[in-house]
Amino acid sequence: MNATSKRSWTPADAARVYGIDHWGQDHFAVSEDGRITVRVPFPSGEVAVPLTDILQGANDRGHALPLLVRIENFLDSRLALLNETFRDAISQAGYQNHYNGVFPVKVNQQSAVIEEIVRFGSRYGHGLEAGSKPELLLCLASLYENGLLICNGYKDREFIDLGLWANKLGYRCVFVIESPNELPLIIARSRALGISPLIGLRIKVSAKVGGLWTETSGDRSSFGLSTAQLIATVDTLRRENMLDCLQLLHCHLGSQIPDIEEIRNGVREASRFYADLAGEGVPLRYLDLGGGLAVDYIGNQSKHSHSRNYNLADYCNCIVRTIQETLDPTGVAHPIIVTESGRATVAHNTMLLFNILDVMRYEPLSLPDMPPQGCHPLTARQYQLSQDAAAIDLENGYREALANRDRIRELFREGEIRLRERSLAENLFLAIARNLAERGRAAAATSPALDALTTLLADIYYGNFSVFQSLPDSWAIDQIFPVAPIHRLDEYPERVGTISDLTCDCDGKLDHFILSAGESQTLPLHPLQEGEDYILGVFLMGAYQETLGDLHNLFGDTNVISVRINEEGSFDVMKEQSGDTISEVLAMLEYNPAFFYENFREKIELAVRGGKINVAERQQILKQFSSQLQRQTYFKS
Ligand SMILES: *Cc1c(COP(=O)(O)O)cnc(C)c1O
Repeated sequence: MNATSKRSWTPADAARVYGIDHWGQDHFAVSEDGRITVRVPFPSGEVAVPLTDILQGANDRGHALPLLVRIENFLDSRLALLNETFRDAISQAGYQNHYNGVFPVKVNQQSAVIEEIVRFGSRYGHGLEAGSKPELLLCLASLYENGLLICNGYKDREFIDLGLWANKLGYRCVFVIESPNELPLIIARSRALGISPLIGLRIKVSAKVGGLWTETSGDRSSFGLSTAQLIATVDTLRRENMLDCLQLLHCHLGSQIPDIEEIRNGVREASRFYADLAGEGVPLRYLDLGGGLAVDYIGNQSKHSHSRNYNLADYCNCIVRTIQETLDPTGVAHPIIVTESGRATVAHNTMLLFNILDVMRYEPLSLPDMPPQGCHPLTARQYQLSQDAAAIDLENGYREALANRDRIRELFREGEIRLRERSLAENLFLAIARNLAERGRAAAATSPALDALTTLLADIYYGNFSVFQSLPDSWAIDQIFPVAPIHRLDEYPERVGTISDLTCDCDGKLDHFILSAGESQTLPLHPLQEGEDYILGVFLMGAYQETLGDLHNLFGDTNVISVRINEEGSFDVMKEQSGDTISEVLAMLEYNPAFFYENFREKIELAVRGGKINVAERQQILKQFSSQLQRQTYFKS
């Protein structure tokens, strides 16, 4: 971005630079007045609502930043798209069965999300997948009758009993067996209750997948049966006269699989298992291919671990045709296709909005007119470099200035240089670095030195949020989420920065971004304006983040609103939830807020007796303390 682009900057440039054109496809856009909008198609045309309007709506209802915003319409549109694209692929291929998706609740268990998925998904027969007892209970309470309910993961006796009763009530509850030891218990409970189970077997395919989540398949995966165990399990069921219960074959290749060829290989292998088992007389009906449908977080349709080299139609066609091609020569009937797409169903639905509290700039605070008398020769040299910046070579100048700075710091440690001189030398270094960086940018040059300078000089924007609470995967596995200011996009972003959160943890930061130019350690940003919030959004974060988040530094849940956009362009707040208060967070750590207050009151009373404070001051302090207990954990802007 050079001086020319500053003069001619438009919102369309912002859409390009921040990648909104790519990752925001169909869901987000930038308005003429420089605001990110939420886009929802209606029969009468598309509606675009600025996020700042939604934020205002939340504010009017008492919800301050940071705020998690859900757009219900996005859940509906993703579910519709998934089901309809499978339906199209099936009809085009002449495939002789249908698709029956399930949503794996571990990806987002929030009631607002599950309720909407079940409500809207019921028209497609979309079911749920549970991986634990709490998730099973949640699914049983949420799902409609006859819904498909896939149970993965470890199961104990109570789990099995509940699942069996669910079958009697009319659900299609399938126990997917992950380990050979589960079967005897299922057989015993089914006999005891007189209810026959629906059984699935989870296989391990040997086809390898790439991406960030590769451990879920392959020989050493902790999930699924080896082929030997699979055969033994089938034989046991046959011997026990329960082969008719075995209706589903399950395989989960991994999450966020970037390469369609790997999906094809996995599906082909799973279909071979299906064909041979069916050929042996196992009355299989469902082939469940698990999750893995990727989200294009960076929007470049590539094999990059945060992208995917296929679209939804490619994915559905690949699955339908691969099953068909593998089964047709064997004469085995086409199964009902099940997938457990989590990430691709809910990622778009949620975004985090937060304000910036402060900015740290790497700029010289003051510079001398001449090198101070009697200063060290290196300081004098830095002074000279700062004066000659226009003349020195960028690469060499940068390297020399950096080496001088480091040597001066060493001299300070050794006691050769005093604090005031070190401070002066640091200012000089920043002046040199700024000059060089500006020169490089004006010439639109690219070089390793210039990249290093950009990172070195980037501002730090302090955001009112916690990475650990709201974006745990960005910390734990370096997941990249799209980040952009949600307003002022008609203004040239003249600053360059990284983002730090509120926790006192050096990992509490966002310093890896996807821009139109590729991956970047810095983000173009706007300078703060007096008396006005500067608000950033983190997008596509609806999958996996909410329950993984933790209370690092005791920052709790943020405020949350679920919004439904209406055809005339208005929106309704369907659900709202206030963030954790300080007292709620303390209670999670087994503090009793009442005792807590009492402990503090006793201390204060002693301070009065000791003459440290008077009674009026005591009142003031106690009032502050008790009102803070009821406040949320984030900062007021
Ligand atoms: C996590 C998980 C999923 C969801 O995978 P996505 O890639 O998010 O769609 C599906 N099935 C199983 C068994 C899982 O463990």
